[in-house]
Amino acid sequence: MKPAPFEYLAVNSVSEAVTALQRYGPNSRIIAGGQSLMQEMNLRQTRPAFLVDINGIKELDYIRETANGLAIGALTRHRTVERSELVQKICPLLQEAVKHIAHFQIRNRGTIGGSLSHNAPGAEYGVVTRLLDAEIVAVGPDGERIIPAEKFFIGHFKTDLKPAEMVTEVRFPALSKETGYAFLEVTRRHGHIPIVSTAATLRLNPDDTVKEAHIALGNVSSKGVPYKVKAVSRLYGQKLTQDVLADLAKAIEAEVDPDPHADSEAVFVKQFSGITSRRVSELSSATYRKQVSSALSCRALNIAFQRIKGGI
Ligand SMILES: Cc1cc2nc3c(=O)[nH]c(=O)nc-3n(C[C@H](O)[C@H](O)[C@H](O)COP(=O)(O)OP(=O)(O)OC[C@H]3O[C@@H](n4cnc5c(N)ncnc54)[C@H](O)[C@@H]3O)c2cc1C
Repeated sequence: MKPAPFEYLAVNSVSEAVTALQRYGPNSRIIAGGQSLMQEMNLRQTRPAFLVDINGIKELDYIRETANGLAIGALTRHRTVERSELVQKICPLLQEAVKHIAHFQIRNRGTIGGSLSHNAPGAEYGVVTRLLDAEIVAVGPDGERIIPAEKFFIGHFKTDLKPAEMVTEVRFPALSKETGYAFLEVTRRHGHIPIVSTAATLRLNPDDTVKEAHIALGNVSSKGVPYKVKAVSRLYGQKLTQDVLADLAKAIEAEVDPDPHADSEAVFVKQFSGITSRRVSELSSATYRKQVSSALSCRALNIAFQRIKGGI
């Protein structure tokens, strides 16, 4: 399939992009890596009349160390994050997550700003952004605003971005040396959009009881947003014994609320083959995703624990 006709404007600055988005209104769309948008346009699920190409805004392609962590420009490719020594040093969890995104050809083009703005269920960046309470910087006709990850994602393929606003930067806090971390996901096959994705961080007290733990999950919320697990607070002050983890697993299964009609893998297969195969339906069922959520979460905590202890 080919896209519906559209007009195209390549811009070289954020202000040019915002002006163009304002001028052409709701029928205009930004194109960054094009790895999600072009699929939708070729399938005519989206028919923007006007495309604003931001690939010429070179000042949005950077990874910088900040006082609290990392600032990553919206146009930074997945592959750049994957290979960055700075990311490895300051926020290695992000690097672990980005390796799971698609295949390297897609990672060569796709951008962090595009991934977050697209907000596909289960997308790796969304899960890490939510876990670490990262901040998304957006610029629009009224200037700049900083949106906490918790408020940025508002629904399936929806974000808090206002008309003519664009993402310019994402800010991640540094992970301390004492923090264990892990990123895990289940996909139908490597490079596919996750059925469930999980990120976890862990800090221990000197006696190995849990000082602080966080878990975020992708594709398990009926609201279509990356989900931060509440039940994890029951671990505080406890050792990560099998009984404690089994109790957590049950609580996570009860807590998560996957939308049976909005699984990314099922939607993806349906888009490209016109059918949802029985196997994909089983794998993407809400029950399956609940079970996977709890199993992946406990495994991620175990890996985080081993990292603290130097076992990985
Ligand atoms: C086969 C395949 C497998 C994939 N697998 C995965 C996967 O496993 N995990 C995953 O996370 N992703 C996956 N993707 C998607 C990929 O990560 C995309 O790169 C990403 O979702 C979008 O980034 P982009 O730069 O390509 O954005 P584009 O496709 O150019 O744009 C996507 C959307 O974001 C908007 N947008 C782009 N940049 C900005 C900005 N700076 N500000 C505001 N709006 C903006 C666009 O208007 C559009 O609506 C896959 C894609 C393909 C084709």
